[in-house]
Amino acid sequence: MSITSNLLSIKSTLPENVTLVAVSKTKPVADLMEAYNAGQRIFGENKIQEMTEKWEVMPKDIQWHMIGHVQTNKVKFMAPFVSLIHGVDSLKLLQEINKQALKNNRVIDCLLQIYIAKEESKFGLDEKELEDLLNSNEFKEMKNIRILGLMGMATFTDNQEQIKKEFSYLKSIFDKTNQNLTSNCQLLTLSMGMSGDYQLAIESGSTMVRIGSSIFGNRNYQ
Ligand SMILES: *Cc1c(COP(=O)(O)O)cnc(C)c1O
Repeated sequence: MSITSNLLSIKSTLPENVTLVAVSKTKPVADLMEAYNAGQRIFGENKIQEMTEKWEVMPKDIQWHMIGHVQTNKVKFMAPFVSLIHGVDSLKLLQEINKQALKNNRVIDCLLQIYIAKEESKFGLDEKELEDLLNSNEFKEMKNIRILGLMGMATFTDNQEQIKKEFSYLKSIFDKTNQNLTSNCQLLTLSMGMSGDYQLAIESGSTMVRIGSSIFGNRNYQ
């Protein structure tokens, strides 16, 4: 199957309210251009340098989403152009994004990553940390970021019940948190679901899926 046919067949199965992020990490620009020519405009990358190199050479109507774990000292490289940062998991990182957004005279949209998996290697805030962050004065005073929703990654497992439980848990936090909002925080987007589990994620209330290998094929990591 070609990238184009993979992309179009996945898109045809997505409900209208679900946004597709084409996860293009490790893939060459030619592959991204094939997806672009098939109509895709949102791409997800997990390394700032790789995303920046692709942004420089590709059409400027692309929305670049940072889906990986972000190091504070690298925020400045993507601040001029990034469209949505999925993996924000601390007040300190949010402060740096706010500072770099201000320098670039823009407001940067972010999602807060919530820890839902049973894996040490995954990042994210727990419920209490989320609440503390949203209630902090430091957060309330930030003018150059906007929290648009939450993001989470389920455990890498074949156990569908386990995955479903984790996605439902994230959805319940999303619904609960939606009730006390501030001017720089509106929870509209729930980013959950990848190639292996996006149907389950959509059943559980996802509004944004991040799909890589089912579109571009398996990745080769050196
Ligand atoms: C790589 C990645 C994806 C896409 O994974 P696939 O299994 O290839 O669809 C989604 N989300 C995040 C955060 C990723 O790092």
